[in-house]
Amino acid sequence: MNLIEELKKISRGILMKERIMYEDCRKNHAASIGKYVVDGCCKFMPAGEEGSHGALKCAACNCHRNFHRKVVHQFLTYGDCSSKSSIPK
Ligand SMILES: [Zn+2]
Repeated sequence: MNLIEELKKISRGILMKERIMYEDCRKNHAASIGKYVVDGCCKFMPAGEEGSHGALKCAACNCHRNFHRKVVHQFLTYGDCSSKSSIPK
């Protein structure tokens, strides 16, 4: 998958969810000739399974994940949904 999710507990019943995504590739393919040219890859797609060698390589452009723009999305979630409708009336 192209995203990493992390849960952080902020306070009682409130959770901060962080989703890390790697967007467009910023690798300069023309650095040797003094220009700035990117390959146009717009989303990091791991070339291998998580934990394997290919996981940090983009399947589309073959660049290392570090060349892709890192975007962190944060959400707040409240409580846990397992206790939603379990109270009998
Ligand atoms: Zn690339």
